[in-house]
Amino acid sequence: MSNHLYDLLIGARSDEDKTFIDVPGGRTISFRQLHAEAGQVASALAAMGVEPGDRVAVQAEKSAEAVALYLGVVRAGAIFLPLNTAYTPSEIDYFVGNARPRVFVGDPSKAEALRPIAEKHGARLETLAGDGSGTLWQAVGTASPDFAAVPRGEDDLAAILYTSGTTGRSKGAMLSHRNLSSNAEVLKDYWRFTADDVLLHALPIYHSHGLFVAINVSLLAGATMIFFAKFEAEAMVREMPRATTMMGVPTFYTRLLSTPSFTREVAGPMRLFISGSAPLLAETHKQFSDLTGHAILERYGMTETNMNSSNPYDGDRRGGTVGFPLPGVELRVASPDTGEVLGAGEIGVIEVKGPNVFSGYWQMPEKTAEEFRADGFFITGDLGKIDEDGYVTIVGRGKDLVISGGFNVYPKEIEEKIDDLPGVLESAVIGVPHADFGEGVTAVVVRDGSRDLTEDDIAGPIRESLAAFKRPKKIIFVDELPRNTMGKVQKNVLRDTYRDIYGA
Ligand code: AMP
Repeated sequence: MSNHLYDLLIGARSDEDKTFIDVPGGRTISFRQLHAEAGQVASALAAMGVEPGDRVAVQAEKSAEAVALYLGVVRAGAIFLPLNTAYTPSEIDYFVGNARPRVFVGDPSKAEALRPIAEKHGARLETLAGDGSGTLWQAVGTASPDFAAVPRGEDDLAAILYTSGTTGRSKGAMLSHRNLSSNAEVLKDYWRFTADDVLLHALPIYHSHGLFVAINVSLLAGATMIFFAKFEAEAMVREMPRATTMMGVPTFYTRLLSTPSFTREVAGPMRLFISGSAPLLAETHKQFSDLTGHAILERYGMTETNMNSSNPYDGDRRGGTVGFPLPGVELRVASPDTGEVLGAGEIGVIEVKGPNVFSGYWQMPEKTAEEFRADGFFITGDLGKIDEDGYVTIVGRGKDLVISGGFNVYPKEIEEKIDDLPGVLESAVIGVPHADFGEGVTAVVVRDGSRDLTEDDIAGPIRESLAAFKRPKKIIFVDELPRNTMGKVQKNVLRDTYRDIYGA
C-alpha cells in the first residue's frame, strides 16, 4: 500500500527542481527540496516516537518550513493538527487535552507558557518560528531525508482541524486522506490549475482554505505559490505581474479595491480570482469586474466538508451565489425540522454528501450523530436555496436566523436591501432578545462616508420592500463590523454587544 495523499501530492514531482514556494524577500523551495525536507521531518518525528495515527499539533507562523512539516507529518503516517496562531495558551490547553498529540509544535516566544500544558497532556514540546528557527528544525536539519512513506489508505486520517466554534466548544473535524485528495483533484480540474500557474497565497495555513485548497491544489498541479506571511494589498499588487491566480477571503477583495495602485493594468493579465470562506457581497463582485474585467469565482466550503460548490470556470459566475455542487458532491436543501428535501427556490438547511465530507468529530460520537442524516448527508447548518438554474445561494448560518414574532427572518435578504442604499458600506442583521417578539430584528450598519446617513434614511426606503415583521426595530451605526481572521462577520459578538438594547 502507498501513502495515499502524500504520493498523490508529491510522488510524481519529488525530483523536480521547479520552485514550489517563493517567499517574497525570503527563501524559495523546490518540489525536490520540499520532498527532502518532508522526509527529514518524518525521520525526526519518528525518532521522537511519533507513530502512525499519532497527532502532531502545530501552532506555528506561516513559513515554507511549516508546509514541509504538514507534508512530513502525512508522510510519517501521522495526523496533522494545525491550530490558529491567535489561540492563547489557555485555549491551547483545551485542544491539546482533547486531541492528545504526541508532539506539540509551538512558537519559541510562547515556549515557557506552553511547556506545562504539553507536559500535563503528555505531549513533547518542540518549537518553530516563522524564520524556521527553533528546536524542531535543529532536529530536522540533521535527520535523514530518506524516509519511506508510511503506507496509508484512503480512509486513514490525514488531519484534524478544529472548527472555529463561535458557539460552544470547538470540535475536531477528522479528515481522511481521501477527503483531501478527492477535493484537490476536483478543484484542480474545475479551476483549470496547471504547472503554468503562479498562485498569490496570502491566507493563513491553519485553516482549510489556505492549507488544503491552496496548497494541495497547487502541489497537485505542479504550480508555484508566492507565499506571503499575511495579506497586505500593496505587496499583492507588487507581485501580481508574475502571478496568474489568487485565492482570497472577501476582505482581500474589498481591500484591493480601495488600493489606488490596484488597477486594470495590474489585474487584467491574471487568469483567475477565487473567493470563499465568507460571503462576497454582490456589490464587491460587480465593482471588481467593473475595475478589472474579471468576474470573481466564488466557492463554498467548510472545515468539515472541504469545498462543496463553486461557480463555473466557463459560464456565468453569478455574484451573490456560490455556484453549482462540485463533481462528485451531492448537495440538497432540506427542511431543518423534518429533513424533507425542498424544491427549487425554497430556503432550508444545506446538506452535503461525497468523498469530501469528513467522517466525524474527534471523540464526539454524539455530536457527529446529530449532524448526519440517516442516509449519510451532513447537515451543514448553513441556510440556503438552489435556484431553477442550479445555482446555490447561502442566506446565512442557521444559528444566525432571526425568529421574530414566530416568523423566520433571513438576515441576508435585509442586509442586501440595506447594502444597496446610498451611503451604506455594509451591514449585519441580527436577532436580539425582545420581550414581545422573542427576537427583535436589529441592523448594524457601516456608513461609506459619502453622506450623512440617519436611521430614517434606511428605515424609509426598506419599508416599501419588506414586510413589517422583517423590518429592523433598531438601526445601529458602527465604524466597522467585527470579523475573524477569515473575514467572517462575528454575529455572535454583535448579539452579545447589543443583547440588552430592547431591555428584554
Ligand atoms: P470554516 O469551517 O471556518 O471554513 O467556515 C465554514 C462556513 O463559512 C460555512 O459553513 C459558511 O457558513 C461560511 N462560508 C464559506 N464559504 C462561504 C461563501 N462563499 N459564502 C458564504 N458563506 C461561506
